[in-house]
Amino acid sequence: MTGSNLELIEVYSAGIKAWFPDEELGWVSASVISKETNSKSVKILFQDDINAEKQHVFEAALADIESNKVGLPPLRNPPKMENTDDLTNLSYLNEPSVLNTIKTRYEEKNIYTYSGIVLIAANPFARVQIYEPEIIQKYSGSRRGELEPHLFAIAEDAYRCMIRDNKNQTIIVSGESGAGKTVSAKYIMRYFATADDKEASGKQAKGETMTEVEEQILATNPIMEAFGNAKTTRNDNSSRFGKYIEIQFDKQRNIVGAKNKTYLLERSRLIFQPETERNYHIFYQLCAGASEAERQELALKEWSEFHYLNQSGTGVIPSVDDAKDFQETRTALNTIGIHKKTQSDIFRLLAALLHLGDIDIGGRNDATLADDEPSLLKATQLLGLDALNFKKWIVRKQIVTRSEKIVTNLSPTQAQVVRDSVAKYIYAHLFDWLVANINDSLSCPNAEVVHSFIGVLDIYGFEHFKKNSFEQFCINYANEKLQQQFNQHVFKLEQEEYIKEEIDWKFISFSDNQKCIEMIEAKMGILSLLDEESRLPSGSDQGFCNKLYQNFNSTYQDYFKKPRFSNNAFVVAHYAHDVQYEAEGFMDKNKDTVPEELLNLLQGSQNSFLCDMIQPPPSTPIVEQSPKKTMNQAKKPTLGSIFKLSLINLMDTIGETNVHYIRCIKPNEAKDAWVFQSSIVLSQLRACGVLETIRISCAGYPTRWTFKDFSERYHALIDFAHWDPTAKPEARAVCSQILDKNINDTDKYQVGLTKIFFRAGQLAYMEKLRSDK
Ligand code: ATP
Ligand code: MG
Repeated sequence: MTGSNLELIEVYSAGIKAWFPDEELGWVSASVISKETNSKSVKILFQDDINAEKQHVFEAALADIESNKVGLPPLRNPPKMENTDDLTNLSYLNEPSVLNTIKTRYEEKNIYTYSGIVLIAANPFARVQIYEPEIIQKYSGSRRGELEPHLFAIAEDAYRCMIRDNKNQTIIVSGESGAGKTVSAKYIMRYFATADDKEASGKQAKGETMTEVEEQILATNPIMEAFGNAKTTRNDNSSRFGKYIEIQFDKQRNIVGAKNKTYLLERSRLIFQPETERNYHIFYQLCAGASEAERQELALKEWSEFHYLNQSGTGVIPSVDDAKDFQETRTALNTIGIHKKTQSDIFRLLAALLHLGDIDIGGRNDATLADDEPSLLKATQLLGLDALNFKKWIVRKQIVTRSEKIVTNLSPTQAQVVRDSVAKYIYAHLFDWLVANINDSLSCPNAEVVHSFIGVLDIYGFEHFKKNSFEQFCINYANEKLQQQFNQHVFKLEQEEYIKEEIDWKFISFSDNQKCIEMIEAKMGILSLLDEESRLPSGSDQGFCNKLYQNFNSTYQDYFKKPRFSNNAFVVAHYAHDVQYEAEGFMDKNKDTVPEELLNLLQGSQNSFLCDMIQPPPSTPIVEQSPKKTMNQAKKPTLGSIFKLSLINLMDTIGETNVHYIRCIKPNEAKDAWVFQSSIVLSQLRACGVLETIRISCAGYPTRWTFKDFSERYHALIDFAHWDPTAKPEARAVCSQILDKNINDTDKYQVGLTKIFFRAGQLAYMEKLRSDK
């Protein structure tokens, strides 16, 4: 290999363009004007392509170039190639070229670009007319590569793979907040609900008409968004939970049902919202859209008069009509079959939470609360609770020791924390109850009919703020898991397979994040140390943090750091970024407890809807019990442990499916239409592994077929009358004939021990030949 880097210098002849870093634009391109080489060094002069006055100089010792110590400026692709719809087609694959292609396409109003198996979607923040029913019909039945890159092409691909391979599919939609995950996931769902299937039997062309279950599936969106989305600084309609929806098909490929799984709803939002953010949409909808009778019964006021809604000062979103959205939520609840009476029960609970937040707790050292405090009376009336009893356990607490029960007074702040914990507890249960009920109505009445599913995962992307807490920790942990799945899919499995099949293959290095995941979820990992601390009577955030310092500084030194200027924070080196987490609040958020006495009260409520709703689902994991603790404390799993289990389950589910990837990109922070900020996009491309995928897709062979399957599917492409697909040499011989006859370029495939490997896009070509036959 020696000398190959030096040979590259030859490429830099006059007129050739290369990229140079630029603070403002990310990268700028420049053309070679002159080159001087001697036995020791090289100097190349470039003229800036935008600013003709400006020059860039590249100068380096040949030895440094040869040893890779210094890299040559990355080359720019010929203009014709720069708006290619698949990044893997680029001749020169480097960061600036990738970025430039996405940017060029975006400026031409093409928001989608393939990157091998991944679809990159850059948010236009403007209405684009590419989701109309005619376009759905165009993609339906088409093959990937025949039409422009599109979400629908990915959806169609998933659908075809499901049918062809008889295998469940997953479409993972990822990206940071505001990048367009939820919008994309909704279009995908709409695609499945409305696309005609030209090949499927038993299904007539139906255009825009939908079956009842298809309508119900779409109706889940406004409901889940009303209860689980909120305005944040980054997105006016930010999903505050993760979601995996399985769309179920029968043998005839009709949609017959669906199942939602949700992940970690943000609870703290219910009681507090940062400046310019809002609580969950449903509260504003209720305040703006309830009927006069409802307003009376529930004692509803303007949003600005409820403590849980007015803390941030923001209650209105310019383009949103909450009253109108409330009607839409009601209609959607009707569509999925939630009774009017049950709907009233739900609104009753929501109103109760608002009044709960208004309960005025006073006092200096000891919390005080008047027996006739109006919000207390209203909240408890709506919740079906005895006001005095409820009040008692808001301002007091009981400690149970082995021999006695001691009741002490709480401080006003402590009492508020207890009050808020009840509100969060009820809302989290209401959300889970809703999901369970939506699932009930969407479940296929006859489970045996369900033949396969396509799952769509819309889950929060990597988060890295100034101040990061338990929520960011869980979100980033989820992203580590997804990144690992992606790594395994794209990198590990590919390379292992190539080795196994003994085909010619050059290794590509990639960073494996297994150790980081271990550090979070292993037996003595961050989550279990947090649980351990949470179970100690004297447990504290500081104690948790100290445990981390003691255990991880040496074992996981590549992934864990103690920050230099803090004793109450820790840094995790995530695959995308180092993130510093402030330990404060970790323990309480993880425990998420409500005092035992209040739980008992809630369980005995006169409000039967509330009672039903807070029944723990039968599948709740049981955390080991310790005899010293009360049943409730011992039984209740921590939020961290629930999240870990649900993630492990999710990864198992995904692992059994064939996965498709959509990476949503947010091109600018201000949510401006058609504005592309290179530096922001670049960091997102790095964080989601797009750059590495490109390298592997180009160098590798993403499609593979066994001799038997390939010969069975494509034997029509040769005139070969008698053959037995079970006889290996025979099938292999058939394959050779098919390949020789139909593919001239032998670089397009490699024949392994049991399979044939194809370059990206080759399968689409074979399929085309087959259908032309
Ligand atoms: P979060 O993680 O906060 O939930 P998200 O990735 O789900 O964010 P979305 O809610 O899907 O983000 O999108 C944010 C906003 O971007 C949308 O409300 C919409 O205004 C705009 N947007 C996203 N995708 C598109 C699209 N394909 N066409 C037009 N606008 C879009
Ligand atoms: Mg979302």
